[in-house]
Amino acid sequence: MARYREANCKLCRREGEKLFLKGARCYSEKCAFDRRAYSPGEHGRSMRRKGSEYALRLREKQKLRRIYGILERQFRNYFQRAAGQKGITGENLLRMLECRLDNLVYRLGFAPSRKAARQLVLHRHFLVNDRKVNVPSYQLKPGDIVAVKEKSRNLDLIHQALREGRSADLPYLRLDKARLEGELLEVPKRLDIPVLVQEQLVVELYSK
Ligand code: SF4
Repeated sequence: MARYREANCKLCRREGEKLFLKGARCYSEKCAFDRRAYSPGEHGRSMRRKGSEYALRLREKQKLRRIYGILERQFRNYFQRAAGQKGITGENLLRMLECRLDNLVYRLGFAPSRKAARQLVLHRHFLVNDRKVNVPSYQLKPGDIVAVKEKSRNLDLIHQALREGRSADLPYLRLDKARLEGELLEVPKRLDIPVLVQEQLVVELYSK
């Protein structure tokens, strides 16, 4: 399966903001962006951030793609599906990304980052509605229950992530820490999704 292999911190520095891709490290003084808030590479310090309209849209798309850890081709597929749905394309796109299994495992606080959540899902540590699912892109629907598999309930990574308490308090999620499970209560509304991206710019980029 294709994966994103570039160093995470470089992605934040390139986008000019913290994308929180590395769990606890992002909140510590070790955060590379906090220490070097300029683009990576030899000319990073002198690089201008403002650019053409196209560059602005491209950066917004790259930012969204990197936040959710999606490769270009898959991201484009998401866009095409979003465009084929009723409603506002940018919001449809964000909703689909937000309802991915790996993202919701992260949001519920079972993993310190989306990358770690993806690994946990791939290694079959989660059930969706009592069935094993090892597909990070699996789309959850309202009412779906995500639970840590019985045999994985002692995994340190999960308990440490829960202890660090980074689970997002979002109106579309319910977390039951004692039972190590969570539920998607409703389709997320754009305003409730904590992602600072101008999705309309992404739509404009692909609509050219
Ligand atoms: Fe980005 Fe986290 Fe690395 Fe900081 S530590 S640069 S927020 S991935």
